[in-house]
Amino acid sequence: MYTLGIDIGSTSSKAVIMQDGTRLVSECVISLGTGTVGPEQALEQIFSESGLSRQDICYTVVTGYGRMNCAYADSQVSELSCHAKGIHFLLPDVRTIIDIGGQDAKAINISDEGHLLAFQMNDKCAAGTGRFLDVMAKVLNVDISEMGPLSQRAVNPVSISNTCTVFAESEVISHLSSNIAIEDILAGIHNSVAKRVAGMALRLGHPNAVAMSGGVALNSGIVRAMEQELGCSVQVHPCCQAAGAIGASIFAWEKYVRKEGIHT
Ligand code: ADP
Repeated sequence: MYTLGIDIGSTSSKAVIMQDGTRLVSECVISLGTGTVGPEQALEQIFSESGLSRQDICYTVVTGYGRMNCAYADSQVSELSCHAKGIHFLLPDVRTIIDIGGQDAKAINISDEGHLLAFQMNDKCAAGTGRFLDVMAKVLNVDISEMGPLSQRAVNPVSISNTCTVFAESEVISHLSSNIAIEDILAGIHNSVAKRVAGMALRLGHPNAVAMSGGVALNSGIVRAMEQELGCSVQVHPCCQAAGAIGASIFAWEKYVRKEGIHT
């Protein structure tokens, strides 16, 4: 039996098909979020890649910022619970998740079974989110996927003193006009995001067995800066951006099994 998990985010749409809630069949990420053709494209791509069709799906769960705008899902589950379940599936030993997406950042403690225990969240301010990094990438004329590798070559990382995205952008422009190397500016940007998000995560207590999820986990510079701020290693799974959709697909299986009275 196949289930579908969809995560409609602020900047990207993710779709995942799983078999019996235990085998990842297919996953895809489209860099277009809620209010765009992104969710529809993600579905088209996942069905064409898996060779399955909508008729093969027994249950669909949608999550993410845009989950209210999805008419074809059977039910909705919060992003917090979906990331908890998705990361528990990908990295079972993890107990603290740091999820940084396009417009918010969350720190989540989970139980041995992958259930949500406690969380902290910033969804009020762009600083410490993917949006902050997207703005800086544009100012520096660097592709978002190049930020991590470039920042690893920093010699003297700058300090970014403003937390406000607008003021920090001016600070970056001033560093650029002083001919400071882009690598050093990028490392400073990553340190500033990591400091902010680590401060939030530490409010949950000292983290242990940490992983990052969400698209920003693909930025190796942020992961390294986060390890320095937290004083521990941070795991990243290659499917980190689809973790919420994976969790949604597993929830879909659990809901289907309950609805049909199937014994697993
Ligand atoms: P949302 O669910 O809110 O749409 P995502 O979890 O998909 O957010 O994360 C989106 C963010 O991930 C972007 O704002 C961007 O900063 C970052 N990102 C996406 N792809 C990459 C990449 N290849 N390398 C580094 N960062 C990335």
